[in-house]
Amino acid sequence: MVTYCPVCNRVDIGKVGANQYYCWHCCIEFSMTGKHRYRLYSIEDDGTLSSLGEEKV
Ligand SMILES: [Zn+2]
Repeated sequence: MVTYCPVCNRVDIGKVGANQYYCWHCCIEFSMTGKHRYRLYSIEDDGTLSSLGEEKV
């Protein structure tokens, strides 16, 4: 369970899928791909997700 955003470290995140979260501050979605790895997605105007790549926490 993720309780904060790995990008801005704020706790105002929402769960949008089984392993997918949304940050209200960054306006991005992210999913954990490992214990210390996550994948970022930006949300396009039409609602689709585009991957921003995988990073380490
Ligand atoms: Zn954030």
